[in-house]
Amino acid sequence: MKYKRAIVWFRNDLRLHDNEALTKALQQTDEVIPVYCYDPRSYQKTPFNLEKTGSFRAKFVNESVLDLRGSLQAKAADLVILNGHPEKVMVEFAEQHQVEAIYFSQEVTTEEQTVEKSLEKNSWAKGIATQGYWQATLFHLDDLPFPIPQLPEVFTAFRKGCEKLSIVRQVLPTPDRIPYPTAIGSIGEIPSLEELGRENPVENERSVLSFKGGETQGLQRVAHYLWETDSIAEYKQTRNGLLGANYSSKFSPWLSVGALSPRWIYSEIRNYEKEVEKNDSTYWLIFELIWRDYFRFICKKHGNKIFQLSGIQSDTISWKQDEDAFQAWAAGITGIPFIDANMRELNQTGFMSNRGRQLVASFLTNDLQIDWRWGAAYFESKLIDYDVCSNWGNWMYVAGVGNDPRKDRYFNILLQAKNYDKKGDYVRTWIPELAKLPGFDIHQPESLSEKMRNSKGVHLGDNYPFPIVSFENWS
Ligand SMILES: Cc1cc2nc3c(=O)[nH]c(=O)nc-3n(C[C@H](O)[C@H](O)[C@H](O)COP(=O)(O)OP(=O)(O)OC[C@H]3O[C@@H](n4cnc5c(N)ncnc54)[C@H](O)[C@@H]3O)c2cc1C
Repeated sequence: MKYKRAIVWFRNDLRLHDNEALTKALQQTDEVIPVYCYDPRSYQKTPFNLEKTGSFRAKFVNESVLDLRGSLQAKAADLVILNGHPEKVMVEFAEQHQVEAIYFSQEVTTEEQTVEKSLEKNSWAKGIATQGYWQATLFHLDDLPFPIPQLPEVFTAFRKGCEKLSIVRQVLPTPDRIPYPTAIGSIGEIPSLEELGRENPVENERSVLSFKGGETQGLQRVAHYLWETDSIAEYKQTRNGLLGANYSSKFSPWLSVGALSPRWIYSEIRNYEKEVEKNDSTYWLIFELIWRDYFRFICKKHGNKIFQLSGIQSDTISWKQDEDAFQAWAAGITGIPFIDANMRELNQTGFMSNRGRQLVASFLTNDLQIDWRWGAAYFESKLIDYDVCSNWGNWMYVAGVGNDPRKDRYFNILLQAKNYDKKGDYVRTWIPELAKLPGFDIHQPESLSEKMRNSKGVHLGDNYPFPIVSFENWS
């Protein structure tokens, strides 16, 4: 044993399965104290004056922490809850409890890395060792076939390189027992949403799923999507859906807090392929997990550029800072039914399909030409599955300042709506008042009567030969 006592600092890895920081701590230490720290900076406003962690995500995180505590208690341990800046309170706690080392998962973006570095510096100053592990991706950083500075800028090259030359490491086992010290004293309470300054979000019956945070629930969701319903066997055909629990996996909220490990999902898919069926759909879910990896490695390569207006490109695109149009987009009152329906789903449930995300992002950046970072920051505050790399990476991509090799990609929203919401069921689900309008064709907003049009609307040019109208006062 290297150390008598260590802390495992849980961050976005709220699980016991496939957790390298935990596994290594257990191998190298006599006693382990699991700790989660509520950092007030995560509950403040971002520079865009939006909440960094909105209600849906705050609730999901709390549920995940509670579930982790329960799982640790079942292994004769517990989860210590701290409140404050980890680089300060964790080091103080470590000192008070004769901790010799702190184990944790490494993050890739600046804010998280700054915290990590300060924690390391403060710990070392007190003679406490630190051990960071890379563990959020399917392919391990050390197994990539290219050094990070040479990471391909095109996804296909990245994917093919990894599929050909890399391997997905084995899942690390869930420990049977965690040797927890006997006299720790107060272990702290999980703050309520109110204490975190968040409202308890109202459960919406139209939500695609009643998302509940925690490793237990994440593992159940995987079992449901693969083994209980075989939904994975049709994923490639259904993945562009908009309504219902099983058109896509919905693994993203659990992945974002690390309640699910991508390697564990991968190993379950491989088992499913051996035992039930292997087809294009089973592969396609792995393909999407590689997209997730890709954005994380792109963040590692480009650092803070992913948050800048010009993204990782050097071209300058001129962006508008039109507050009114942005607010209409955010509230789902632009007058384009498909956009509004998606934004309402996001606002009321914290979730939106991948198709919806692509289209609302394209509408904001390509049609309204509004600063793409406003949209990314809005998603950050609303999404239950917010993941810094997937979010900012996808936004850059759609806005044309990221890794899309095609510079001229454009989505005509009305055509897309006709394709993906043929009968208008999705739009009617989220804007039921539309069904009450006689003679209105959901796919042809120009069929609105003159009276309903708002003359102050924004004209969008040939693709939208009508002004944007507000659905605000329609019911
Ligand atoms: C503008 C925009 C913003 C986005 N923001 C986020 C975000 O903050 N957090 C997030 O997890 N995903 C984000 N995505 C990616 C994607 O939309 C979601 O991962 C997906 O819709 C989640 O639903 P699912 O789990 O059912 O996905 P599935 O279709 O079942 O896919 C399985 C998993 O693959 C990964 N995945 C799928 N598509 C992508 C993608 N395009 N990029 C990265 N990973 C992907 C996710 O981890 C997902 O859970 C964003 C996409 C866009 C276009």
